Amino acid sequence: MTTSEDLFARARSLMPGGVNSPVRAFGSVGGTPRFLVSARGAYVHDADGRDYVDLVCSWGPALLGHAVPEVLSAVHAAVDRGLSFGASTPDEAALAELVIGRVPAVERLRMVSTGTEATMTAIRLARGFTHRDLIVKFAGCYHGHVDSLLAAAGSGLATLALPGSAGVTAATAAETLVLPYNDLAAVEAAFAEHGPRIAAVITESAPANMGVVTPGEGFNEGLRRITAEHGALLIVDEVLTGFRVGPAGYWGLTGQREGWAPDLFTFGKVIGGGMPVAALGGRAEIMEYLAPLGPVYQAGTLSGNPVAMAAGVATLSLATDAVYAHIDARSAELSEAVSSALSAEGVDHSIQRAGSLFSVAFGTSERGVHNYADAQTQEAYRYGPFFHSMLDSGVYLPPSVFEAWFLSAAHDDAAMNRIYDALPAAAKAAATA
Ligand code: PMP
Repeated sequence: MTTSEDLFARARSLMPGGVNSPVRAFGSVGGTPRFLVSARGAYVHDADGRDYVDLVCSWGPALLGHAVPEVLSAVHAAVDRGLSFGASTPDEAALAELVIGRVPAVERLRMVSTGTEATMTAIRLARGFTHRDLIVKFAGCYHGHVDSLLAAAGSGLATLALPGSAGVTAATAAETLVLPYNDLAAVEAAFAEHGPRIAAVITESAPANMGVVTPGEGFNEGLRRITAEHGALLIVDEVLTGFRVGPAGYWGLTGQREGWAPDLFTFGKVIGGGMPVAALGGRAEIMEYLAPLGPVYQAGTLSGNPVAMAAGVATLSLATDAVYAHIDARSAELSEAVSSALSAEGVDHSIQRAGSLFSVAFGTSERGVHNYADAQTQEAYRYGPFFHSMLDSGVYLPPSVFEAWFLSAAHDDAAMNRIYDALPAAAKAAATA
């Protein structure tokens, strides 16, 4: 028995499925999850003494790589001053300034601890501000495990093939309209029927929880136009893409250049550099509906935690244009290498992209992947053997075909070469799956 097998057996006797977040259980790829004990640069190290080039990067936060000395020393200095005060601290404003400096459409920001809290608060705020009840979301988009946003959600629900979650009341589900992604006509039709009741449309800035899906030309801008016409808010969820695909997230690559902005953004992951930080932000007029100024309540014992803020400030301060250029270039090289390895083995696929984020969808070269139905009907069974071949060669991929691959500033030539060397055998495994 390996140490990971031993630890997994122990964990399963103590925690449901042995995990604290479902996709970690390797359910769709099979086998024993690796128990990780440390991470440095582009590598993670498991309890069995093996190391892997990491293409998960903590599901996004590790933009700079793991255990970056400057970030660690900022965190150590904060730890030495005490772990949590439950009062305002100087670094909260420092982090808010960094965010607002990068995303000028954000006029006010509220820090929370998880992406789920950010989206939950954003929809409550939208309802409070508009005095309306319905929320529109898109099938395959994941916004955390908020009751009303779990219908046809991606991420772990896609991995486990769940249409939604048990435990969500019919009344709650009835307040969410789920539409096909990339279909503005469906959005127009929903507003024609329910317009005066729709508080907000929430969308991932670029979906990355049903695999990556590129928003079609004009789709996000169309959402902006339609919501504005009907007095509803547009919430752009950048929990995953924010500060990862560029200094101002996916909006910085698109909306900012096109001259439009959503009413509210949600952020998470990179904003905390690996510590539990997330946030919502947007127009001051709306944000000031939050308590203590306004009637929409929201709070958190650990919100703006000083150690987490220190990690966020250090990470965003180091996330320069050069970091994004490096990740863009590595991502382009890697996605091409994956594609040619698969083609060499005759494995039909498409590479789905949004900025530096990408994922592979099997059996989709003809049609591509434009929405959740496309993502679900791919040859997903090819991913498990591909994943395990890569793992055996020392490369740690996301343990689900419905997740994006993440690179970091620490992925140097040595790390990339290990991935490139592993690809031919993995492509062969996918071909014979
Ligand atoms: N929104 C998006 C787009 C996400 O990708 C995620 C998490 N992967 C969330 C919200 C939820 O964030 P958290 O897991 O921190 O609750």
